[in-house]
Amino acid sequence: MTIDRRQFLKGAILFIPACAGMEALVQIGAANAESQPAYDPNDHYYGMGIEIDKCIGCNRCVEACKAENDVPAEPFFFRTWIERYTVKGGGETTVECISVDPEKSRALAQEERNIIRTFFVPKLCNHCAHPPCVQVCPVGATFATKDGVVLVDRDRCIGCRYCIQACPYGARFFNHRTRTADKCTFCYHRVVQGLQPACVEVCPTGARIFGDLRSRASRLVRFERMNKINVLKPALNTEPKVYYAELDGEVR
Ligand code: SF4
Ligand code: SF4
Repeated sequence: MTIDRRQFLKGAILFIPACAGMEALVQIGAANAESQPAYDPNDHYYGMGIEIDKCIGCNRCVEACKAENDVPAEPFFFRTWIERYTVKGGGETTVECISVDPEKSRALAQEERNIIRTFFVPKLCNHCAHPPCVQVCPVGATFATKDGVVLVDRDRCIGCRYCIQACPYGARFFNHRTRTADKCTFCYHRVVQGLQPACVEVCPTGARIFGDLRSRASRLVRFERMNKINVLKPALNTEPKVYYAELDGEVR
């Protein structure tokens, strides 16, 4: 589900009475309601970290994303996907999206010869701080929230696909069901309730780290401090907010 401005406001309004309801029913709940102020996007600025060495290419994040966000089942539509990089003797490197058919990809990989190494790279919208997709949208349907998430307002989107062409990361697709542009939202509907994105929650190896870049206590900030960090296509100056640890120079 692509969340729009109204859905976000509805979510925020629902979130506050939920705390207020606890206050009326349970005394300890009253303390919690007071200690948990309503969600304020000005207090946060989100990003995601990815530890390449931890990704085992199991594709669970992709399946969780599809289920959580009702992404069309057709094989080539993804809000997040996994690429396998295979470095072969002689310097050749091949890239394959294993999320289309993970079983087939696994079988084919076992048949390959002359492999020096393989690794997996999870990809998704980078929620760029300078997003070209927002710049080109003629009706303001694609917008950035104050907490650093790039979203699509389905009620405004006219399906012109300019944003799909403008995204240098191939992170957007045209959703034939909704007739609008579609992409990762960092599971914004979950995040505003204090939950993790679905892909982060299911990853069995902790390869994905979601967090608040404004909070010194956040795991993401620690992850950035402790690792050599790269972003995709840094020369484009889009300032991606998906940060990769130990990203191989082959990855584009
Ligand atoms: Fe926009 Fe693409 Fe950047 Fe996402 S990765 S914010 S869709 S330009
Ligand atoms: Fe990689 Fe984690 Fe996704 Fe599995 S769930 S493919 S380990 S990022």
